[in-house]
Amino acid sequence: MARYTEAACRLCRREGEKLYLKGDRCYSPKCSVGRRSYAPGQHGQDRKKVSEYGVQLREKQKLRRIYGILERQFAGYFTLAERKKGITGENLLQVLESRLDNVVYRLGLGASRKEARQLVRHGHFQVNGKKVNIPSFLVRPGDILTIKEGSLSSTKIKENLEDAGGRAIPEWLELDKTNFSGKVKALPTREQIDVPVREQLIVEYYSR
Ligand code: SF4
Repeated sequence: MARYTEAACRLCRREGEKLYLKGDRCYSPKCSVGRRSYAPGQHGQDRKKVSEYGVQLREKQKLRRIYGILERQFAGYFTLAERKKGITGENLLQVLESRLDNVVYRLGLGASRKEARQLVRHGHFQVNGKKVNIPSFLVRPGDILTIKEGSLSSTKIKENLEDAGGRAIPEWLELDKTNFSGKVKALPTREQIDVPVREQLIVEYYSR
């Protein structure tokens, strides 16, 4: 399966801001964005004039990198967002948030989206009682996510379950630590998605 292989911190430095791709390290002084706040590579420190297209492109790349989605699949999500009723940019964010790996991350069961994706792939979760090991599976309101019984011995999951990754759980989700489960109460509104992107620029990018 195709996936990102570029060093995560380079992606943040390219976008010039923290994308929180590495879990605990992102909240520590070791974060590369604070230490080297310029783009990676030989010309990273050059001053460049960015065109309108360039701004739109960077915004699209940033969102893609936050969720760890490859180009073609991201374009597919955009098409899906366009077909839905409502504001395309907001729909796009909502679709990305509905991915199972993101839900696992938002519930604090994975330290980063990357770790959450790996946990899903390894078959640690069930949705409505059925094993789902597809990170791109889209959840719906009312869905119940449970940690598989055999997976409760996983140190990673245990640690994450204890402090929910140190992050607040968004209002649209509910974590039940006693029953090792999470519930999708509703799909998130734009206000509930704390992703620092101007989604309108992404809509403009695809409308060229
Ligand atoms: Fe980005 Fe985290 Fe690396 Fe900082 S530590 S540059 S936020 S991935």
